[in-house]
Amino acid sequence: MSAQIPLDDILAIEHLLSEDEKLARDTIRSWIKERYRPLLNQAHRDGIFPVEIIPEIAELGVFGANIEGYDCAGMNNVSYGLVMQELERGDSGLRSLVSVQGALVMYPILTFGDEEQRQKYLPKLAKGEFVGCFGLTEPMAGSDPGAMKTTAKKDGDSYVLDGVKAWITSSPIADIAIIWAKCVDEDNIIRGFIVERDFNGFTTPDIEGKFSLRASPTGEIHLNECRVPAANMLAASGGLKSPLSCLTQARYGIGWGVTGAAMDCYQTVLDYGLERIQFNQPIASFQLYQSYLAEMATQLVNMQLLTLHYGRLKDAQALSPIQVSMLKRHNVAAARKIASDARSMLGGIGITDAYPVMRHMMNLESVYTYEGTHEIHTLALGRALTGISAFD
Ligand SMILES: Cc1cc2nc3c(=O)[nH]c(=O)nc-3n(C[C@H](O)[C@H](O)[C@H](O)COP(=O)(O)OP(=O)(O)OC[C@H]3O[C@@H](n4cnc5c(N)ncnc54)[C@H](O)[C@@H]3O)c2cc1C
Repeated sequence: MSAQIPLDDILAIEHLLSEDEKLARDTIRSWIKERYRPLLNQAHRDGIFPVEIIPEIAELGVFGANIEGYDCAGMNNVSYGLVMQELERGDSGLRSLVSVQGALVMYPILTFGDEEQRQKYLPKLAKGEFVGCFGLTEPMAGSDPGAMKTTAKKDGDSYVLDGVKAWITSSPIADIAIIWAKCVDEDNIIRGFIVERDFNGFTTPDIEGKFSLRASPTGEIHLNECRVPAANMLAASGGLKSPLSCLTQARYGIGWGVTGAAMDCYQTVLDYGLERIQFNQPIASFQLYQSYLAEMATQLVNMQLLTLHYGRLKDAQALSPIQVSMLKRHNVAAARKIASDARSMLGGIGITDAYPVMRHMMNLESVYTYEGTHEIHTLALGRALTGISAFD
């Protein structure tokens, strides 16, 4: 036997993190282990999100954690990223809820809303008194959201919204939705609207039969002559670039988040391989098993270096959308491969929820698809590198 070196020692970035950053990471890591993990298997089996824990999640300060003011934690973007990493070490469904709330609901209200809207909604969202969702995708407008059919028509001091949004994280439990619609009186410009659950003509049927993100409510949003006060329009939004800028915020968190899921898969198969005996020896002693581990460890180091570098750039307000595309594309694909390899390394038991790996593997299929599919980010990078668009 020779000495085992922990992956953290190979990564060797601990000294690059501040005390506040480490505290944010370690607090969420312990909470996940002690509070969330015990609930998770049953929630996943039942296909529900344990809503009763939302106030406790809010207490952790993770909703809109990188927003200043409005009862938000005001963390820097590296702390925020580490929080996402630890939440997704638990489950991608939990990280999705928190990402949507902060990056896709609070961020657009902060950025495109007026002060009255901010004061009305942000503190409630920060405290988990409101859950929010983000309605951009439609049945016939997924990778091409500009093809959306949802319309907003001005009528007196209201807008009347009509359309269907599909695949909306948290819509079945949401108190408010940010709805993106084409304003027919303004040359079909896309604007955001804050729609409250009890507005007439707003319903959110569940999407059933998911194999992935089972502990995350996903639904549709049906807007049937839904009347929204004009005061609920996000007046500073305008054009597709508005929702896309929200997605850039969320994708940044995803780049960190999936690293947590991949770390959990790696640690699981490392521990398992050292204990599981076949052919009279631990399976971790076989070259093929070690080859998987070496590849995973290398990918994890790459993923973490990318997140930290881009996190520091974001804190310096120097992170571009194309860098975020690269982060999302690279880290999700790497995490997906790690989870899939880890599943096979567990053998038969790997297909059950005795270990978290197959849950992560199934969750990462959604993460690979949402917030811009892997292929669309490939095309976005290709466009940036060549100056030639292959898709629009
Ligand atoms: C669990 C889950 C949660 C989600 N949450 C939200 C949410 O909260 N809010 C929201 O608005 N949306 C949400 N989405 C929607 C998600 O963003 C879309 O599913 C995604 O954008 C892809 O759209 P689509 O499913 O219609 O696939 P399509 O766009 O139909 O794509 C199908 C396939 O074709 C490929 N493809 C499409 N166009 C091209 C092209 N030009 N070149 C090459 N390949 C191409 C895609 O990469 C993909 O592989 C969620 C999705 C899931 C699965």
